[in-house]
Amino acid sequence: MNILLLGSGGREHAIAWKIAQSPKVDKLFIAPGNAGTALAGTNVNIKADDFPAIKEFALANNIDMVVVGPEDPLVKGVYDFFKNDSALAAIPVIGPSKEGAQLEGSKDFAKAFMMRHHIPTARYKSISADNLAEGYAFLEELQAPYVLKADGLAAGKGVLILDTLEEAKKELGDMLGGMFGDASKTVVIEEFLDGIECSVFVMTDGKDYKVLPVAKDYKRIGEGNTGLNTGGMGAVSPVPFADDVFMQKVDERIIRPTIEGLKAENIDYKGFIFLGLINVKNEPMVIEYNCRMGDPETEVVMLRIQSDLVELLEGVAEGNLGSRTLTHDPRAAVTVMLVSGGYPEAYEKGKVISGLDKVPAENIVFHAGTKAADGQILTNGGRVIAVSSYGANKEEALAKSFAGAKIIDFDKKYFRSDIGFDL
Ligand code: ATP
Repeated sequence: MNILLLGSGGREHAIAWKIAQSPKVDKLFIAPGNAGTALAGTNVNIKADDFPAIKEFALANNIDMVVVGPEDPLVKGVYDFFKNDSALAAIPVIGPSKEGAQLEGSKDFAKAFMMRHHIPTARYKSISADNLAEGYAFLEELQAPYVLKADGLAAGKGVLILDTLEEAKKELGDMLGGMFGDASKTVVIEEFLDGIECSVFVMTDGKDYKVLPVAKDYKRIGEGNTGLNTGGMGAVSPVPFADDVFMQKVDERIIRPTIEGLKAENIDYKGFIFLGLINVKNEPMVIEYNCRMGDPETEVVMLRIQSDLVELLEGVAEGNLGSRTLTHDPRAAVTVMLVSGGYPEAYEKGKVISGLDKVPAENIVFHAGTKAADGQILTNGGRVIAVSSYGANKEEALAKSFAGAKIIDFDKKYFRSDIGFDL
């Protein structure tokens, strides 16, 4: 079969790497892809949210399935675009409908969904300019620190955690005043939850589901989880605290009610659900839903899926996921992200990346922000390369990834050398 994968990050390179291993695949195209995805398939110069161009390409190239990497095309309705076009309706899109993508696209929608289905999450109130006084009153009820979230997508920057009530009140006003544009016209105020986070990924055909290997990512730029938030500096799988007892609670209290809730509300959802969870004294609570895989978690999760991913994706598309097999690789997998100096603030692009041909085969190198030009591979983003490895345990896998992270080089390269330190 011919598959079109949308996206251009490390997540998409990891998915492309895994798809390309399937004997079921004839051709794999990635739109727009990066210098790494070009090693697993053929890059196509189409933006992931340019639906008319995607349509033309899909029809001209006999595409049998579209797999969506990032949230943007999903929130903009790529699933519905295919479903509602008679020429495209037979091509399955792996990802939720526009309505299902609201689990990520609107935090207010996600919180109300969790309330309706009794899914454990932080206490909250949604505030807009009309009920600002209620917002102040709710903040006064809560204890510091205070959590304010822009309702809509804000490129991972829409959550503020504030130490004092004064700051929280001021920032609430500023957010409603347009700090994140339309995304913060509504703000979710949440109770702060104290615990350790992990990412649980579920694949669903809308009826049945499979739980993928659990991962933990490291969001802050600095060692010891300090400094600014980034897209993610590394990830580890498995996560020791996400043991059978914890995962049983996750399954019963969170995953099953989520799938049942989507079904009961007639929300079309055939794709990945990313549950951002927090472990509060061994009780799992939902911090956020995302409607796609995580980055950099995918760069470890794909290593730990032993089964044929395309076989599973077919199950999602055909509505018979329950009859497919998902086996987890018992080994540990880790990834260490090499980033451009200065990231997540200003950084330079276009630096020559060396050493890619010198890393040992035990490093599985996923490209994030890279591009090929004049026979060289250049940096083309903040997060540049994810160096993934297997190991008998996380220590062994990390030793391999850190060794690879030293061999690959570019001007002002930076990586965290403490990924997995708290597990
Ligand atoms: P991203 O897309 O970058 O994962 P986001 O902008 O969608 O993030 P959230 O994941 O909801 O926003 O929040 C970002 C981070 O803020 C979380 O990973 C978590 O560390 C912290 N956070 C969010 N809500 C809470 C909460 N109620 N209590 C404690 N920490 C929280």
